[in-house]
Amino acid sequence: MVMSSSLGYPRIGENREWKKTLEQYWTGKVDEDSFQERIEKIRLEHVKKQLEQGVELIPLGDFSLYDHVLDTAVMFGMIPDRFNYKGGKVTLGTYFDIARGAKGAAAAEMTKWFNTNYHYIVPEIGESVPELVENRPLFYYREAKEKLGIKGKPVIVGPFTFVKLSKGYEEADYQTLVNDLVPLYGKILRELQEEGVEWVQIDEPILCTSITKQEINRFKDAYGILKQAAPDVKIILQTYFDHVEHFKEVTAIPVDGIGMDFIHDRGENMTALKENGFPGDKILAAGVVDGRNIWRTNLDKAHSFLSQLTEHVSKDRLIIQPSSSLLHVPVTVGNEEALDQTLRNGLSFADEKLQEVVILTRALGKGIWTVQKEVDECLKSIGDLHSSSIRNVQSVQDEINGLTSVEVGRRSPFSIRREAQTKLPLLPTTTIGSFPQTREVRRQRMKWRKGELEEGEYQQFIRAEIKRWIDIQEEIGLDVFVHGEFERTDMVEFFGEKLEGFHFTTFGWVQSYGSRCVKPPIIYGDVNFKEPMTVKETVYAQSLTDKPVKGMVTGPITILNWSFVRDDIPRHTVANQIAISLRKEIKSLEDHGIWMIQVDEPALREGLPLKKERWDEYLQAAVFSFKLATSSVQNETQIHTHMCYSDFEDIIEAIRNLDADVLSIETSRSHGELINVFEENTYDKGIGLGVYDIHSPHIPGREKIISHTRQSLNVLDPKQFWINPDCGLKTRGVPETISSLKVMVEAAKQVREELLVKRES
Ligand code: GLN
Ligand code: ZN
Repeated sequence: MVMSSSLGYPRIGENREWKKTLEQYWTGKVDEDSFQERIEKIRLEHVKKQLEQGVELIPLGDFSLYDHVLDTAVMFGMIPDRFNYKGGKVTLGTYFDIARGAKGAAAAEMTKWFNTNYHYIVPEIGESVPELVENRPLFYYREAKEKLGIKGKPVIVGPFTFVKLSKGYEEADYQTLVNDLVPLYGKILRELQEEGVEWVQIDEPILCTSITKQEINRFKDAYGILKQAAPDVKIILQTYFDHVEHFKEVTAIPVDGIGMDFIHDRGENMTALKENGFPGDKILAAGVVDGRNIWRTNLDKAHSFLSQLTEHVSKDRLIIQPSSSLLHVPVTVGNEEALDQTLRNGLSFADEKLQEVVILTRALGKGIWTVQKEVDECLKSIGDLHSSSIRNVQSVQDEINGLTSVEVGRRSPFSIRREAQTKLPLLPTTTIGSFPQTREVRRQRMKWRKGELEEGEYQQFIRAEIKRWIDIQEEIGLDVFVHGEFERTDMVEFFGEKLEGFHFTTFGWVQSYGSRCVKPPIIYGDVNFKEPMTVKETVYAQSLTDKPVKGMVTGPITILNWSFVRDDIPRHTVANQIAISLRKEIKSLEDHGIWMIQVDEPALREGLPLKKERWDEYLQAAVFSFKLATSSVQNETQIHTHMCYSDFEDIIEAIRNLDADVLSIETSRSHGELINVFEENTYDKGIGLGVYDIHSPHIPGREKIISHTRQSLNVLDPKQFWINPDCGLKTRGVPETISSLKVMVEAAKQVREELLVKRES
């Protein structure tokens, strides 16, 4: 009989109790014993909630104290050498040290989990030989069995994906490393089998990346060994975030079931299924409820889709589930009382998604009429949302339809623009936008939000902060100023709150990394410009100084990628709607005499599709939106952009196509690698390679900045080079920010003088 399943549940809890518990432990407010006790309660609570929804296969071990990739590394005793690990079960202390850093040992690197905004801890392959120091899945299985009387489904990150996501090895050693791990996975499974475990989910999302047939054939050997190690355990090989590459080979891997994402595959999994059929001895775990977005599933459509599937897979071999772990969506719509009714009825978070899975399972097993009421209600809600006035703003749609005729491109090439733009000193110094958001700034904003501070008073406070920092920038001697972004909590939220078409939940948090959660805005309607959003503060800042003040705007792709986006129109249409609004913002900045405008795109890279062959399509659309927002300005206006990463090699072409006059990028931690990129690729516009790391509280050394700069000048023309920190300074303290910037400006002066001397001689 068809079964329902869940692949993973949010860790954070309805009221972020998980986050709060972690942070209390970190600050020493609770001891380890009571911490473990509270965490266990939260963990079991989440299992219970899924049971109550009626889900049959409950994931275990998907819960984590920080990150599931780190959990996997720790399970194998793979601890970076600098943490002095001596073997045995890894202590809680070491676990958090790896994640958060310790005295004398830097935290492990963090990076984005595929194309999501969730960050995992990058495992480091070191000298030590991996061994199984703790069977985590077994622990969680026993816990749920003893405390709740259920037989759950342990979840593990598979060996191929695990090694692929690790660093510190040569490509040629990839297979050897996997081979070293396979016996350990075998041991885990054998012990699970002895315990009576029936189902195990092994996640191998790398099967959805551009992987070769040859690599997939290696999966056959490895999984063959695992199957042999525990023949009674049913292994579901789980994929997600796109369609599986080489369908025929993947479905031939010797496991009991294959989990596939039928939401983010653009129909490809189904096409391949029709073409190749599905092996009669395997289970298909079909992800038909979106695990990444927050919209209600059209139950009627999903049911017809599942019926189609049953033409290829018999019902008793079908599992119905979300398309991925629900880690990427908030917990429940239930508490969103303040939300617009039409929107609220159209939403589905983790709990509601599991409900949908259960309803669809019933519909398929017992007939759609058994859930007719639920289906009707769902269709009505979706219909209401679809026809709501906010989704259908004629003027926005007219602008979008007129787009093909809009020239996106600056009126003159860079060489001419450069001449028109005001001259600055050689190696101009600047910052990335934000200055420290002190406790006082946050306190005042909180008071204002609660209505305890009058609008006028709050504005006065913001102006005073701007003035203070304009004076500080004068004193430091920077060449290009910023206003400091004191009026913004978050660079996306700020614009979302001022544009039409966005909505904000009260509890819609999702984990970003560790205990850090974000509350992505919901792009629900047509995005529309209402009134200038940044002009007041920027113009005020400019009125205080003769130095140029950069306007600060978040770019269309970043706003898109850091929001939950409506799914009834193409994503690039939404991006273009945002771009049109930003274009109006940029125009009004320009009209008010602001002639340097920075458009931040820190999230451009993370939106890259899993499949290489789709990169072009994504990048072209991204470049189009960026240019739509930025290119209607005068030649005299200098457009800056900023990005927070340095993996540049593969997207440098697109970066060049943005046609920004000045680009600043985060490179201080991987400087050498980036320099190589510019040795091989020409870049002829203004560029600032962040000269110091703002993520560290230490004041940068002047010599280091100088050598960094000299190194860059080996491959870049001094006339195009800018000096700046590698990101915004909002998380830093005031004194360290001032001291660091002073060092930076002094260093710039010294190199500048050296260059002038050289030129004269
Ligand atoms: N202008 C933004 C700031 O300085 C850029 C932030 C970012 O790159 N994430 O805060
Ligand atoms: Zn940045």
